[in-house]
Amino acid sequence: MTLILNGVAASTAIKEQLKQALSQSREKPHLVVVLVGQDPASEVYVKNKQKACHEVGFMSSVKRYESSITQDQLFNELDKLNQDNDVHGIIVQLPLPSHINANAIIDHISPHKDVDGFHPINVGNLHRGQNSFVSATPLGILRLLEFYSIDVVSKHVVVVGRSNIVGKPIAALLLNANATVTITHSKTKNLMHHTQQADILIVAAGIKHMINKDYVKKGVVIVDVGIHRNDDGTLSGDVHPSAYELASAYSPVPKGVGPMTIAGLLLNTYQAFQERG
Ligand code: NAD
Repeated sequence: MTLILNGVAASTAIKEQLKQALSQSREKPHLVVVLVGQDPASEVYVKNKQKACHEVGFMSSVKRYESSITQDQLFNELDKLNQDNDVHGIIVQLPLPSHINANAIIDHISPHKDVDGFHPINVGNLHRGQNSFVSATPLGILRLLEFYSIDVVSKHVVVVGRSNIVGKPIAALLLNANATVTITHSKTKNLMHHTQQADILIVAAGIKHMINKDYVKKGVVIVDVGIHRNDDGTLSGDVHPSAYELASAYSPVPKGVGPMTIAGLLLNTYQAFQERG
């Protein structure tokens, strides 16, 4: 029987744990989202983050700025948030307007409040196997595998994609968890040769249905990170449903990795709250 890795069930369990952990606390974690300009997709993401904070009893605020704000002005705003003891987590919603250097802005967030896990100190600590904030999607994937008691030790994990927010950090996280990891990308030759060897296949390429049954071996665990909106409003992933037939477990799209990304952000915000100075 094929196991469906239900991200809604796993994220609900995490939210319950967080609510429980906070039930005796008078102080609450406070997440601040910095939003520049009026990108419609960003508005939706920010709304979802606020909703999730509300569900678990976290405080959340959105700091909105006109797209004409300068980089120096944004630095000043981040300085204020970095110094504010009532703010535990800060995320800057990407993309930013083209006159602002996103990496410079990320570098300006205090690493102790960087709940997106994008700051070089957190990225470095992850690669050293030290305590750090880990990008929300990879953290959510790890928690999804744990929720379904899928052991990663000594497993061959193949990651398709090498982005800074998914591919690279999930590879580092699983390496730290004692998996054997292969990272593949757009210049990898004979991708199928690699994916067919995967005990656990993590797909974050951003190409709808690119992995079909020819790319996987029987019994594989598939984690599909891709999200594509179809013309009829439904969502599809990077994995074609034909691959599910061979899998021992797979994460569906929707209701797989998506809800776990939000859970990852909540876990990071709670960690920042606990470790506050
Ligand atoms: P990205 O575009 O930054 O990176 C894509 C990666 O895939 C690149 O490293 C590229 O080298 C690789 N790639 C492209 N074509 C390939 C090919 N033919 N073979 C092998 N590798 C190939 O994307 P991203 O930000 O990592 O996101 C990937 C997908 O995951 C997107 O669909 C995105 O919408 C989705 N996503 C979902 C969540 C979630 O919460 N579910 C979070 C982040 C991203």
